[in-house]
Amino acid sequence: MNFQKNDTVTVTIEDMGSDGQGIGRADGFTLFVKDAVVGDTVEARIVKNKKTYAYARTEKVVTPSPFRVEPKCPCHRQCGGCQLQALSYEKQLEFKQDKIRNNLIRIGGFSPKDIDRCMEPIVGTEQPFRYRNKAQYPVGTDRDGNVIAGFYAGRTHSIVANTDCLLGVEENREILEIILEHMRKNHISAYDEATGEGLVRHVLIRKGFTSGEIMVCLVLNKKMTDVSPQEAGRRKEGDKNSPCTYSSSALEWIAGQEELLRRLSQVKGMTSVSVNCNTERTNVILGREVVTIWGSPAITDTIHVRDMNRPDFPITGRELSFSISPLSFYQVNPIQTEKLYSLALAYAGLTGRETVWDLYCGIGTISLFLAGSAKKVCGVEIVPQAIEDARENAQRNGIANAEFFVGKAEEVLPAFYADAAGREDTDAIGSGLLSPASDSADMLHPDVIVVDPPRKGCDEACLAAMLQMRPQRIVYVSCDSATLARDLKVLCEGGQYRIERLRGVDMFSQGVHVETAVLLVRT
Ligand code: SAH
Repeated sequence: MNFQKNDTVTVTIEDMGSDGQGIGRADGFTLFVKDAVVGDTVEARIVKNKKTYAYARTEKVVTPSPFRVEPKCPCHRQCGGCQLQALSYEKQLEFKQDKIRNNLIRIGGFSPKDIDRCMEPIVGTEQPFRYRNKAQYPVGTDRDGNVIAGFYAGRTHSIVANTDCLLGVEENREILEIILEHMRKNHISAYDEATGEGLVRHVLIRKGFTSGEIMVCLVLNKKMTDVSPQEAGRRKEGDKNSPCTYSSSALEWIAGQEELLRRLSQVKGMTSVSVNCNTERTNVILGREVVTIWGSPAITDTIHVRDMNRPDFPITGRELSFSISPLSFYQVNPIQTEKLYSLALAYAGLTGRETVWDLYCGIGTISLFLAGSAKKVCGVEIVPQAIEDARENAQRNGIANAEFFVGKAEEVLPAFYADAAGREDTDAIGSGLLSPASDSADMLHPDVIVVDPPRKGCDEACLAAMLQMRPQRIVYVSCDSATLARDLKVLCEGGQYRIERLRGVDMFSQGVHVETAVLLVRT
């Protein structure tokens, strides 16, 4: 029998796919069922059918799974951002543990026995809601012409009004309501993607969880030149393509600005209000230019080092402080980030004498964690602004043994290797990369290499250079266990390395993504 679109079918969910959809079988067909969790029996409507499988969406839960919980957010089905919200938190952790394990077995080719020997239980969170320190709300207009802020429905670009995403902090709602009310009162328009008209595109809110400091950045469809020809003139003399921040409270960016700032500044913790110019017709949220219109240009936050070898992961007393501007990258779940970085630090096994590379280092967070226990750390990152932040963060924390390089890991590392290896042979001096020759010899064969690449994983040239450098330990921090598995296969294939420890960290509760830290040791 063949299903037709719009048929309804009763199906029991036996498994869950990596995107969080329920998987069940009916009449020899595999069904991928949206909004169903493992253990449910649901009535589902077919939305798309193929030869041997079909996609369906839940119409009615006939028998709820023992693992089903009442989703806290009334918008969770429409939004699609929290694919696992109807699943109990314990079961969410199990789903993620299995996802990592299965990818390592299926894609990485590791044996279940080997994985089970070194895989530690996933690190869960005590705060599975309201854990995000950053929110980016699109602003738009509803059918009746009212300005709204909310989220994009499913995979569309139509905005559903909701100022209280349960993953974000409670202050978001208060801030958004102030801005929306101000817009209504002053007849300020919301941006319209279809026409490119309208002023307010997005509201970006960030909160330092330890400092309590809050930053609001209004993304406006306006050019720097519209408001301040002098600033723009000065800007032309500099590098036009690099991101840029100004501080000016004298300029009027938005009608009734003074009143808006007065109200925003009354929100507890408010430290910084800025404007970002973005006139591009793209999905990219932030433009390159930021003007601080009230308070300081950045907020600060602190990350504590935790002891991951003890239960409950107690804080050790060591901590690092970071300055976060609207444009800088910073992990969104600060509570779990402490655990992830501390795990990477524990896996690195540092005693104070080691040389370490930290590839894909962002603003240097992991590098600075490591530097406190190493002889020397070199960070590599593709985004120049992030490297500027990394150097500033090193200074801010009084760290002198970390050096940072701008470039692609797959280019910087092989170039360094070729250059330093040549120097080792000829004893010649003159590498452009590291200053003293002794450093470069140390960094040629480092004790540890840490990588934390984006979802697509490491480039082959980067993996090849890592193998040539023969570190004692490789610590792989990954936000996608499929590409992690692919890369670990390359690193372990020649028998040079084996997995020693491995552990998931739940950074994105209610969603399907999971972070993993892996320790590889030289055999
Ligand atoms: N370790 C950091 C950042 C991890 S995110 C942290 O925890 O904060 C991955 C980083 O890799 C991003 O900052 C991204 O800009 C950078 N990146 C992406 N491709 C890269 C490449 N080919 N070489 C070096 N860095 C890259």
